[in-house]
Amino acid sequence: MPAVTPEDPLALPRVAPREGSHPRAVAGVADAVVGLEGEGFQVRRAFAGIDLRYADPFLLLDHMGAVEYAPYEAKGAPDHPHRGFETVTYMLDGKIRHRDSNGGGGVISDGATQWMTAGAGIVHSEMPTEDLVVGGGLFHGVQLWVNLPGASKWNPPRYQDISAAKLSLLASEDGGSVLRVIAGEIAGSGGPGSTFTPITYAHASIAPGARLRVPWRADFNGLVYVLSGHGSIGAVDPAPIREGQLGVFDLTGDHLEVRADAAQDSHVPALEVLLLGGAPIREPISWYGPFVMNTREEILQAIEDYQAGRMGSIPAETSEASQ
Ligand code: MN
Repeated sequence: MPAVTPEDPLALPRVAPREGSHPRAVAGVADAVVGLEGEGFQVRRAFAGIDLRYADPFLLLDHMGAVEYAPYEAKGAPDHPHRGFETVTYMLDGKIRHRDSNGGGGVISDGATQWMTAGAGIVHSEMPTEDLVVGGGLFHGVQLWVNLPGASKWNPPRYQDISAAKLSLLASEDGGSVLRVIAGEIAGSGGPGSTFTPITYAHASIAPGARLRVPWRADFNGLVYVLSGHGSIGAVDPAPIREGQLGVFDLTGDHLEVRADAAQDSHVPALEVLLLGGAPIREPISWYGPFVMNTREEILQAIEDYQAGRMGSIPAETSEASQ
């Protein structure tokens, strides 16, 4: 998995809960639900099995792959609109090319993140690169949707291209885990992603048999999604968790705990997890496809605005370049 990986994890700053810190208990573990996106590529929807109030301020987490595409098999999501939230695409393997009506875009690959604030409205495309389409190859990534509070839904669109080298890297106290901070802050180390809603978003690789304990903000919910491997979450009454499952922590306690089982499948060198948390927005959600607003009237307006071309379009030459 070529997400950014340090040569010597033992040289990284260590993360440990403070003295007297209490681990959060596990509220539940749910299976992701398989769905189809864009031109028909398969995703695992991490939040589909839980009440969305537990995920707030997150709306959706789609796990794409890992899949080994044959030539001409790779699919993407051609031009489509969004309004009212942010899409965050983190690539572990392979490449994806974004273009948008705001002039943002680019190719992201191995360990890079594309952060798009749709805000008041944008049209974008998310397509595999030409070389991945023609030659096939490994594709593995995730797309997270972060909701915007009503007051920020009409912000102008924004694009952040975050290279793998910009992530903050940390190690667990036992040296067996590498933690990559994409957004927010863990133990004083901040990630590069800039958000309207306070969140923490990180990717951890936990060696077989290792234990990761991460200090967690008291006002944030805590979620863990397993990209590959198997292990357990929670300290006192740990719950088993494996690839394609989402763990939800209780709201009380000061740190999250995740352990990798000592024996993993031979093709899985480490337990790979995403850690997510944020301050819940607690506003009404009206959601229709690519639009997430507070009211049904705002959704109808979004559909009308898109159909009238008021969310713009991707410039013709860049649209062609993305095919
Ligand atoms: Mn999209």
